[in-house]
Order: sequence, then structure tokens, then C-alpha cells
Amino acid sequence: MDCNGRITIEHSFIYAGRQISEMWNYVPLCWAHHLGDKFVKEVNQMISLNRATDEELSKYPRKNWSQLKKYLNEKWGIKKVAR
Ligand SMILES: [Zn+2]
Repeated sequence: MDCNGRITIEHSFIYAGRQISEMWNYVPLCWAHHLGDKFVKEVNQMISLNRATDEELSKYPRKNWSQLKKYLNEKWGIKKVAR
């Protein structure tokens, strides 16, 4: 995992130009994975979408969340992640 540094909070998604202020959108990351060279935005977004319920995501209808979640899980899902 190569974690290093203090714990920080990543906001995975922006919606309509603003950060989404929901617990599912907050991903705790060490400094290296958030602000250093280990940062991979799509992995953080995958984690957020796997935490959110369909009902929570329905508050933000302008994104195709189910399609994005499928894409991210196929690309970065647990078997493929070696960070
Ligand atoms: Zn880390």
C-alpha cells in the first residue's frame, strides 16, 4: 500500500461545480495517496460509489452513476488494484 503521512479527506466528486457534502463522498486517505504520487482519482471515486446507496445518488441525477460505478469497478476492482 505504501501509505505515508497524516490522514486527510478526499472529496471524490464535484457536482454542478461544487463538492458533494455527503459522507459517501468523503474518502479518508493518507497524505501520499491523497496529495502525493500515489493519488488515483478513479479509485477514490470507485470507493465513494460503492459506499453510496442508489437513493443517495438519486439526489444528483445529472450523472449516470450506475454506468460510472460499473466502469470503475471493472477497471479498478479489488482483484486489479495493487497500490
Ligand atoms: Zn495511503
